[in-house]
Amino acid sequence: MIGANIQKIKEQIGQNVELVAVSKTKPIELLMEAYNAGQRLFGENKVQEMVTKYEQMPKDIEWHMIGHLQSNKVKYIAPFVSLIHGVDSLKLLEVINKEGEKCNRKINCLLQVFIADEETKFGLDENELNEVLKQINEHPEKYTHVNIVGLMGMATNTNDKDKISNEFKTLKKIFNRISPFTTHYSLLSMGMSGDYQIALQEGSNMIRVGSLIFGER
Ligand SMILES: *Cc1c(COP(=O)(O)O)cnc(C)c1O
Repeated sequence: MIGANIQKIKEQIGQNVELVAVSKTKPIELLMEAYNAGQRLFGENKVQEMVTKYEQMPKDIEWHMIGHLQSNKVKYIAPFVSLIHGVDSLKLLEVINKEGEKCNRKINCLLQVFIADEETKFGLDENELNEVLKQINEHPEKYTHVNIVGLMGMATNTNDKDKISNEFKTLKKIFNRISPFTTHYSLLSMGMSGDYQIALQEGSNMIRVGSLIFGER
């Protein structure tokens, strides 16, 4: 069933959108079902859980950290993580850079932008985002082991489709505006099980889907 769920979503999203299978809280057997159906991008939001799954699963999987990441835990995932979605401060970016340097890797990161109408969601507001980008541009020598490859955002958890659509539009506008400033910049991670269709309409090229693939948590 997991394979069929993935197949169905992949048919809907086409070749130009990447599907991150959000496997948080789910056991290895279910992740392996997804793997055997061809899925290679997995998203986790807890460091320890991701490390355990990384150790137990095939090594051609790309592990995406999608949750809020604490600076003191970066070192555990730095050797293998392929994309960190939720970078929301310069301090965190500096720690990722330092840990990337230690394992001689350049770690791909998305800057998380706050677009929702909720107090619980992390992320930079537009001014903070501008400031982070300014610092990176002015001091490239301090960020030699990270690549900012795009932006990530989460819409408000609501049934109001216009509201979700407007929030994603806002993020897409910001994404388009800052694109000339960095070299590897191409990913716009927005959309989850409940709102990925709207996100796709608004220009997402990476969706993070959990419950629609693996079932409710
Ligand atoms: C859990 C989670 C998802 C997936 O949520 P579903 O509704 O199960 O698709 C996507 N993005 C983030 C940041 C998450 O924490």
